[in-house]
Amino acid sequence: MLGFEETLLAGLARDGGLYVPESWPSFSADELRAMAGLPYSELAARVMLPFLGGAIEPAAFRALVADAYASFDHAAVTPLVQLDHGLWLMELFHGPTLAFKDVALQLLGRLFDHVLAKNGRRITVVGATSGDTGSAALEACRDRAHLDIFMLHPKGRTSAIQRRQMTSVLAPNVFNIAVEGTFDDCQDLVKAMFNDSGFRDELQLSAVNSINWARIMAQIVYYVGAAVALGAPDRAVAFSVPTGNFGNIYAAYGARAMGVPIERLVVGSNSNDILTRFFTSGTMAAAGVTPTLSPSMDIQISSNFERLLFDLHQRQSGALSDAMARFRSAGSFSVAPSELATARALFTAYRADDDQTRATIARVWQDSGQVIDPHTAVGVHAARAARAEGVLSESVPLVALACAHAAKFPEAVKTACGVHPALPARLADLEQRPERVTVLPADLGAIQDFVRRHARLGAGQPA
Ligand SMILES: *Cc1c(COP(=O)(O)O)cnc(C)c1O
Repeated sequence: MLGFEETLLAGLARDGGLYVPESWPSFSADELRAMAGLPYSELAARVMLPFLGGAIEPAAFRALVADAYASFDHAAVTPLVQLDHGLWLMELFHGPTLAFKDVALQLLGRLFDHVLAKNGRRITVVGATSGDTGSAALEACRDRAHLDIFMLHPKGRTSAIQRRQMTSVLAPNVFNIAVEGTFDDCQDLVKAMFNDSGFRDELQLSAVNSINWARIMAQIVYYVGAAVALGAPDRAVAFSVPTGNFGNIYAAYGARAMGVPIERLVVGSNSNDILTRFFTSGTMAAAGVTPTLSPSMDIQISSNFERLLFDLHQRQSGALSDAMARFRSAGSFSVAPSELATARALFTAYRADDDQTRATIARVWQDSGQVIDPHTAVGVHAARAARAEGVLSESVPLVALACAHAAKFPEAVKTACGVHPALPARLADLEQRPERVTVLPADLGAIQDFVRRHARLGAGQPA
């Protein structure tokens, strides 16, 4: 077993696996009742402190949490909005980049900095983005004293909003690199930097990736908050989550393990429906990726799914690594009928193609006047399908997660419902903001040279 600090900094375990808690801390019904109505940052501290094992002083942790969520432009941080009878939206897009990743990453950046400072260390974060999630990592790392971040994106292949959300971050420790190549080139370059062990050690390379345990921990908070607001522990609730890497919905699974009465979890996939096929058939089979209106869910492999699979295999790591090895070599694996039955007792999955996504955006706009983004629409489609099929009790409130602000995907939203979604006030002047970006060829030597010259850990830089 590893302590909290090591788990945070390591991300991936040495054997290539993912970290999960040895046992889940759990809350009594009275403890849950006492959480109703708390300010978000106090709720967050209560939910997360049991995971820290004393690694961070409670007062220091409360200060980090309060600072992280002060960057949100809604006082409730993750407010609930009612859409229909028995159907709610939880808005997770009030952070600096207008998407749910901010909820975890705003805290993660501060946690990294705190732990690095305590241990007298620095790191250099490198990452690649196709455009939709890079800005959340930049906003998480900006102005942190003990880390620098270099983000590679394919030049000219991101939307204007995506590019500006990244290149307008002018903090001195943030470096945007526009690579003359594709997103695959960017990913290959990042991999090659990690594979160069001399370079990796010199710069203490690190990643802020979707499998870091602390991201899951931070995401559990809003599930607990929504559940107690809607009557838990005295009434059960259900969630519908638009899903890609299975990180967000796995956090809901964590909330349930901690004692929150969650009757059902609904997985929403777009046309890249590897998860929906799994929950229907018990077979996880990779297929090619098709671009959709919800790009943050255009995935081939759900990296966090391994965490659920560990439990489906009764926490036998041998059985899990056999399944993962089969998946890597043959492109598919299946679980036993009893394991599928266990999974289906909690999870139900539905798929929404682009037509259904647009139709859902239009219907929500007509019925409630809410403008939702395509990712959110996939979750709302799945929520309605789950209700129609009667897979949850009528009296159980169902919360669909609104994972991005509609203004991040203006063309898709305008086409679907005729409304052009305006950027919120905090980003209204985005088009006027100065940009800073360095264009480099898709060449490992050129990128490494740039990183060395600009990172605080790079050769020639004062320590
Ligand atoms: C990342 C993301 C998702 C998918 O979340 P996972 O944790 O990967 O399942 C869905 N919607 C938006 C807007 C995202 O940014």
